[in-house]
Amino acid sequence: MNGLDRRALVSGAAAAMLAPWAAQTSSAWAASPVSGKQAPGFYRFKVGDFEITIINEGARSGPLRDGFVTNVGREQVLAAADSAYMPKGQVTVPFNAVAVNTGSKLVLIDTGYGSGVSPPVGMLTANLAAAGIDTKDIDVVLISHFHPDHMDGLKASSGGPAFPRAEIKVPSLDWSFYMSDESMSRAPEGRVRGYFENSRKVLQGLTDRVTPYEWGKEVAPGIAAVGTPGHTPGHTSFAISSGQGRLLVCRRKNSLRLAAPGSRSCGPPATRHRAAMPG
Ligand SMILES: [Zn+2]
Repeated sequence: MNGLDRRALVSGAAAAMLAPWAAQTSSAWAASPVSGKQAPGFYRFKVGDFEITIINEGARSGPLRDGFVTNVGREQVLAAADSAYMPKGQVTVPFNAVAVNTGSKLVLIDTGYGSGVSPPVGMLTANLAAAGIDTKDIDVVLISHFHPDHMDGLKASSGGPAFPRAEIKVPSLDWSFYMSDESMSRAPEGRVRGYFENSRKVLQGLTDRVTPYEWGKEVAPGIAAVGTPGHTPGHTSFAISSGQGRLLVCRRKNSLRLAAPGSRSCGPPATRHRAAMPG
């Protein structure tokens, strides 16, 4: 028997031995439902005495929208996305909320899309639970700006408050802008008008819990509001300080920045907002 025959014989025998197993595995695998979900995602670390937990609420991939990145060319952005293993011709945007346990207060920065959407996003409540955080224990929710992926999670799927004990603090400039009938009347139809309509829908029934905040002031123990306008009129970052620890939470960063340093997706007021902005 030459070497070729022996290899053919061995591989044939192996295939024959594997065949029943392969057939069984194939049918068993086919019968299993597809999950469509990632594993629970959170990451925890300390800033001074504060415990910070980054809660992942999912990620979404889609075609690169015009104007999504304002200072880098489209081809360069897509090349960076490709080198970061994002789907071909698309960008992947992760969504995260930030829980801060100050010792005296449990604070949540932004809420994500909430439970009204399907996976792969809308995982905040499940991932809070996976991180051992009960929505009933959250004292304060800080909203960075009035966009759906940061505020829709204020509402539970039942339509009631998702965080039943929490005070809701919102940037006063976004509050006055998006709740203003006059600003809304100037907003172009489509995405921008949708932000106005969505803000009203989400906050309906919750307004007695809402406190507008100003920049440059403490909004929770050890957490100060820092004005970073442009993406929206009241877009806010949060400076967290405890002991020697410092952390700046900017809500408009994304994974493209890691792949394309210097790219900017929250620069000067976006053209799409300008029409509705006063002056
Ligand atoms: Zn936004």
